[in-house]
Amino acid sequence: MKCFMAYLAHETNSFSPIPTDLSSFEEVGIYRPAVGAPAQHMGLLKGVADFLRVAQRRGDEAVVGLCALAQPSLPCLGRDYVAMRDEILAQLAAAGPVDMVLLFMHGSMMAQGCEDCEGDMLERVRALVGPAVPVGVLLDLHCNVTPAMVRHATIIKACKEYPHTDFAARAEELYELVAATAAGKVRPAMAFRRVPMLGLFQTTREPMRSFVDDVLATERSPGVLSITLAHGFPWADFAHTGAGVIAITDGDLPLAQRLADHWGRQFFALREAGQVEGLAIGAALDAALARSTGTVVIADMSDNPGGGAASDSTFLLRAMLERGVRDAAVGLLWDPVAVRLAFAAGEGAVVPLRIGGKLGPGSGAPIDVEVIVKHLRTDASQPHIADGSATALGRTAVVEACGIEVVLNEIRQQPFHPDAFVGAGVDPWSKRVVVVKSSFHFNAGFAERAAAVLYCDAPGTLGGDARLRPYRHITRPIWPLDEVKM
Ligand SMILES: [Zn+2]
Repeated sequence: MKCFMAYLAHETNSFSPIPTDLSSFEEVGIYRPAVGAPAQHMGLLKGVADFLRVAQRRGDEAVVGLCALAQPSLPCLGRDYVAMRDEILAQLAAAGPVDMVLLFMHGSMMAQGCEDCEGDMLERVRALVGPAVPVGVLLDLHCNVTPAMVRHATIIKACKEYPHTDFAARAEELYELVAATAAGKVRPAMAFRRVPMLGLFQTTREPMRSFVDDVLATERSPGVLSITLAHGFPWADFAHTGAGVIAITDGDLPLAQRLADHWGRQFFALREAGQVEGLAIGAALDAALARSTGTVVIADMSDNPGGGAASDSTFLLRAMLERGVRDAAVGLLWDPVAVRLAFAAGEGAVVPLRIGGKLGPGSGAPIDVEVIVKHLRTDASQPHIADGSATALGRTAVVEACGIEVVLNEIRQQPFHPDAFVGAGVDPWSKRVVVVKSSFHFNAGFAERAAAVLYCDAPGTLGGDARLRPYRHITRPIWPLDEVKM
């Protein structure tokens, strides 16, 4: 079996203050086949690394194309998207006849001039390989599924867990399904049901935990090949924003449609109970300070760079300074200018520093404060949520202001793991309060040792109230903007 695989992923936030171009992908790291053997670059391959491991185990021939990922932000510069897309298409054409194609994409990527990059890519891949070659695509569950994706892919799967701890398992399932299709052992029939709602649904909590377990059990039923809950990415403003269910059966399209309809209605019924209600800043700090032992972790959900925020907002930090909160840490606060100044001042220096608040209204006002430069690092990293690979944070500077240690860094990303703090020089477990600029992914690494985890809906780019977002293009009605029946 000969398999072509490639990876182009970006979660596009229409309301982000940050533009996206090729350099956004280069910052995270791009794998190009000419650079060397894939095995030496597994960290750059992300989901494709999981495909590659299955191919090697099966003894299949794998041809790996471009693999590129950027942090969430605004739609990609049109010419840079087209260049990366065409690079993958040229690599597929150059590979000669293949038995199957596997792509890893986000599922809510937009570019200037193309609001459905996954649908566009799949249409062009389909045109190249023809109708007989199965094309599988693995998505993030925060995907906005479009008719073009469903039309041109043979099999669409997404991760099932949020935090996304199951990409490897889903990649393996997708590979085996697509390979079985190529071998003529199954005939996938895929149906999609849109679920008109906007929200974030963490799967480690009830009722979502039991719901996902029920879906996993149904996938093992005779004739059922796959059921995917697409949670949607609410900050993409286009016609197909929203949740959905993709059901795939072995040759039985009516059954696939019935399953998609059934699970779509069940998912819709959880629209309120399935979401985390974020606390206001004051309430979150009250609850954190009420505990006398252990470390309380507060998620600054609205400033999560993993959803397209700048991660330099100051709303929570300002409130902590005003209340005199001590023995606390805040990170990762993306402020390359402040990092540069801290490096120039040197470890141990006491200097006035302007922190954060630089990217726009969602960042709040900058904080001017005297700080002690505590730790400067050039090698801090953290294990990535998807595959555990070491992910560089850029240069980091830990500065202390009035008993609060702020981890400033140069490469915008959310803390997946306590190592994001430890590598920069801060032991989070020695603190009373730790603020993480993340929505849920941090939970996988922090929940076990935290005395409590609190979710804060501070002002910011990813504020939790959908009714406050300036949508112009999404399809109405959609919950919670409208009353919807399903
Ligand atoms: Zn996601």
